Amino acid sequence: MNAASARAPCDRADVQAFTYTALPVRVVFATGALGQVGAEVTRLGCSRPFVVAGERQHAEAEALRAQLGAAGMFAEAAMHTPVEVTARAMIALRAAGADCLVALGGGSAIGLAKALALRTDLPQIAVPTTYAGSEATPVLGQTEAGKKATSRDLRVLPEVIVYDVALTLTLPRAMTVTSGLNAIAHAVEALYSPDANPVIGSLAERSIAALAHALPELVADGANLEARGEALLGAWMAGTCLGSVGMGLHHKLCHTLGGTFELPHSETHSVVLPYAMAYNAAAAPVAMAAVARALGTSSGSDAPRGMRALAEALGAPLSLRSLGMPEAGLDRAAELAVAAPYPNPRALDRTALRALLGEAWAGTWTGEH
Ligand code: NAD
Repeated sequence: MNAASARAPCDRADVQAFTYTALPVRVVFATGALGQVGAEVTRLGCSRPFVVAGERQHAEAEALRAQLGAAGMFAEAAMHTPVEVTARAMIALRAAGADCLVALGGGSAIGLAKALALRTDLPQIAVPTTYAGSEATPVLGQTEAGKKATSRDLRVLPEVIVYDVALTLTLPRAMTVTSGLNAIAHAVEALYSPDANPVIGSLAERSIAALAHALPELVADGANLEARGEALLGAWMAGTCLGSVGMGLHHKLCHTLGGTFELPHSETHSVVLPYAMAYNAAAAPVAMAAVARALGTSSGSDAPRGMRALAEALGAPLSLRSLGMPEAGLDRAAELAVAAPYPNPRALDRTALRALLGEAWAGTWTGEH
């Protein structure tokens, strides 16, 4: 056992004042749980579900529609929830006379169902097939005229989450890796959030450990059902972290890069996370010690390097340049990040962030920021 993994049953240094608001949700987690969605519709007191999905999962959505005898379906969900797609889905939803929403897919399908719930207050059942975690949050990002705005509203929080491990078996290797790192990023930032608390801290540490353990096995064999189960459990815990406490520098940078430069969501998270951790490491030693325990690195100060090593071992993208980020946009990205900062353990300094972004763009790693 290394120094970082040796932990007292209750570390009294961690006992601090906190406020914690639990979110109301029912979670059904099982291989084959898709078969229980009908019973969950009935349990909600509903009988006319409306199925929401993305185009690439049209066939799976069609099968679910038949299984449920659904009132209607819309399988054109798109990344970042554009309001014009939501407007078209609203027309189909109204025509169907539906009384609840069932979202099947990743964050894009779940985001569309949330947008419909915001407009109708219909109850939702989310059936996630990636590790993004949106199903466990009352947060909705919507894009209008090229601008993404995020809001928090309990009406968009799904009432029920049905996690069926079997549905994740088809997640391609690259998406498995980046979506898993996206989930780990939620857990890491939860550990140093101003809203941090023991419940979420425990979930966050377990989440990182579960994903860091499962992802290498899934790179070797995406059909490993046990590893799929461990990763999906880690993703639920990470999503719960994201829904419960505020996020910091890492999420701010990723929202800026995704929103302004249209970089892909989970890939951007994968590149930025070790750099954001390096920026915050000295200001968040307790959080970094927890990450180190979860990753099995020797000390909290090694946690950013451990995260970078994990990303490398998984074959994740390592540079913003490889994702299509223009070098000329780095100054603007640094400015946007400090203009409306999220709460963060270390104050946001434009010059230091510009250096961080330069390194993340090139994909070089010094571990210093
Ligand atoms: P995604 O939902 O866009 O899915 C990516 C692609 O993978 C899609 O084509 C999808 O059909 C396909 N796919 C999904 N699951 C699959 C599976 N099991 N097998 C085969 N193909 C599969 O990607 P995502 O990363 O899950 O979600 C990204 C979106 O979610 C972004 O818009 C992001 O902003 C949003 N998001 C929101 C929150 C929140 O709390 N509001 C949290 C995380 C992500």
